[in-house]
Amino acid sequence: METTDIHVAVLPYDYYADRPNDTMGLARTAAIIESIRAEATNAMLVDNGDFLQGNPMGDWIAYERGMKEGDVHPVVKAMNVLGYDCSTLGNHEFNYGLDFMFKVLAGASFPFVCANLTKGQLAASARDDDLYMAPYVIVPKTVKDGSGGEHQVNVGLIGFVPPQIMVWDSRHLTGNANTRDIVEAATAWVPQMKEEGADIVVALSHSGIDSNRTERMENASLFLAGVEGIDAVFTGHQHLVFPGKSYEGIDGVDAGKGTLMGKPAVMGGFWGSHLGLIDLLIERDGNAWKVVSATTEARPIYERVDGKNRPLVESVAAVEESVKDEHEATLAYVRAPVGETSA
Ligand code: MN
Ligand code: MG
Repeated sequence: METTDIHVAVLPYDYYADRPNDTMGLARTAAIIESIRAEATNAMLVDNGDFLQGNPMGDWIAYERGMKEGDVHPVVKAMNVLGYDCSTLGNHEFNYGLDFMFKVLAGASFPFVCANLTKGQLAASARDDDLYMAPYVIVPKTVKDGSGGEHQVNVGLIGFVPPQIMVWDSRHLTGNANTRDIVEAATAWVPQMKEEGADIVVALSHSGIDSNRTERMENASLFLAGVEGIDAVFTGHQHLVFPGKSYEGIDGVDAGKGTLMGKPAVMGGFWGSHLGLIDLLIERDGNAWKVVSATTEARPIYERVDGKNRPLVESVAAVEESVKDEHEATLAYVRAPVGETSA
């Protein structure tokens, strides 16, 4: 399961309009997460980045309340309730600077991975890069088979950020970081994951889908899927839905089935609008595991009927509760007068 581009939309509430909005909210996506956990024997949950900036709750924390040592950011509080297995970083995680970002990450009860963000200059070879984050994690996941037997599958999760953060957040990052081409980083690190025993390799790609391969490309998920050893790709960043019509007619993309270069892939909209789901059927293959078949789906939290948005799920109370105080404070923040005019 993937959430992506949450942008601090924990609640189904539009702070700019100051009213509820049924098209958004991780608290709603959480209801789909719960139902999938109930229906699937084995499940994992990842976030694909861009969780930290994008609405007044995020701005209120960054510009008004701040992050003291030990504070937990509201979006991370909500994510901790949901029990993520892993997350990668999106470009917007860098908007408030590196110090702020690392204070936020420290509050998470799950690991972050990013294979193409370096502290200094790029090394001659990607595997010698001095990275800020772990490039990947290998999670030993106990799974149940069809007849109830238990097995351990080592699930490798590797993350990527668009290299363009060096331009978009140059005031924070120039002299403090560098980024490597996504496909180049994957080509270097995935073989090491396999050497370390990853049975299945899943990419957390905060990057969209584009048909033209260019150096340091922003939306590299199609070509990332072509890297040998990668079994599935979670995408994001473009705030679109995959499988879906937006991506029809691109070479290497099956926009109906939800594959990139034949590998299962998904993009779960934005602000919690969809849960991205990749369902892998895996089979023992000697000492390893292989993916036999896969289906992908972006499951929406609302539908559009007669020009109106109708929710398909109710909010999960525990997620709503986790940000209750910050929600109230954000309402006070957006409702505060900024000035007066007689005209
Ligand atoms: Mn985004
Ligand atoms: Mg993004």
